[in-house]
Amino acid sequence: MKITIQGLSQIYPGGKRALSKIDLEIGNGLFGLLGPNGSGKSTLMRILVTLIKPTAGTIHIDRLDLQKDRKDIRRLLGYLPQEFSTFPNIKTWEFLDYIARLSGMVNSKKRKSVVDEMLEKVALFDARERLANKLSGGMKRRLGIAQALINNPKILIVDEPTTGLDPEERIRFRNILADLGQEDRIIILSTHIVGDISSTCHDMALLLNGEVAYKGQPEGLVNKAKGHVFQIDASDSELSKIKEQYAVISTIPSEQGWIVQVVAERIEGFRSKVIEPNLEHAYVYFVENETLT
Ligand code: ADP
Ligand code: MG
Repeated sequence: MKITIQGLSQIYPGGKRALSKIDLEIGNGLFGLLGPNGSGKSTLMRILVTLIKPTAGTIHIDRLDLQKDRKDIRRLLGYLPQEFSTFPNIKTWEFLDYIARLSGMVNSKKRKSVVDEMLEKVALFDARERLANKLSGGMKRRLGIAQALINNPKILIVDEPTTGLDPEERIRFRNILADLGQEDRIIILSTHIVGDISSTCHDMALLLNGEVAYKGQPEGLVNKAKGHVFQIDASDSELSKIKEQYAVISTIPSEQGWIVQVVAERIEGFRSKVIEPNLEHAYVYFVENETLT
C-alpha cells in the first residue's frame, strides 16, 4: 500500500499557514514524522484521518482519493490522537469492548476475543480490570494503541505517543510499534524526539514550519550534517561564551573543564575538531539553519 501526498497546504481560519505544499510518498512499515512543536505534524495527521479538509492539494491511498472516497478510507484507518484520553469509571477491558462495539462488532464472543488479543498485543492483559483513567501514562498510551488497532487498520497513525513517557516506557512503546510495523501496514509516527526515529524508522520526513525540510532514510539526514558538528575542549569561562555563540548539543564535564558538542558552519576562537554526526546532531543542524534563514 502507498500513500501519495501532493501539493498539500493548510491555512487555518485566521490565516495561520500550518502546511506549505507538502509532497510525500509513504509506503509499508514505520514512517517517522519528525519536527519541533508547531511544525505541522498534527495538522498533517488530522488531514490524513479526514478530520480536517486541507486548503489545497491531494492525497491518494493506492487508487483511493481522500476527498472522494472518505468512507472507504476511514475503514482503513486507526488513529491515536495527541490528546488521547479515556473516561472515568470504566475498566481497561471495558473501554476496548466499548470501542469495538462502536466500530460495529455486535457479537459479544467475537468482541471478547478481539479485546483479549489487543490487550495481549500491548501488554495490558494483566491490567485489564484496572480503571482505564487510573493507568500510568505509558499504559494509557498503550491502551490508545490498542483502541486504534481494534479494526485491524491497514494504516495506523499515532501522534506524539512517546511525549512525557519515562525512558523504559518509551522503549517498550517503540518496540510495540516496531512489531506492528513488521505486519502488512503503514504506520506513521510523529514525534519531536529524535531517538524515537533513530531506533525504529527506515523512512522519515522532517517538518519545519510546515515544509518538508528532508525526506528519506534517517541515514541521509545524518549525512547532511557531516562537517558541521564540532567538539570543543573548553574551560568554565569559555563554556558560557560558546553557549552564547553556538547551538550546543551536549556538555560533558572533563578533567580540564568541559567537552562541548556544537553544530555550526565553522568554529572560530576555540580549539575544536570535526566529529561524526548522529541523527540528533543533524536534527539540531536543520532546526538551527531554519531559524537562521
Ligand atoms: P505540531 O503538531 O507539529 O506541533 P500543529 O499541526 O499542531 O503542529 O500546528 C501547526 C501550526 O498551526 C502551529 O503554528 C499551530 O499554532 C497552528 N494551528 C494548529 N491548529 C490550529 C487551529 N485549529 N487554528 C489555528 N491555528 C492552528
Ligand atoms: Mg502536534
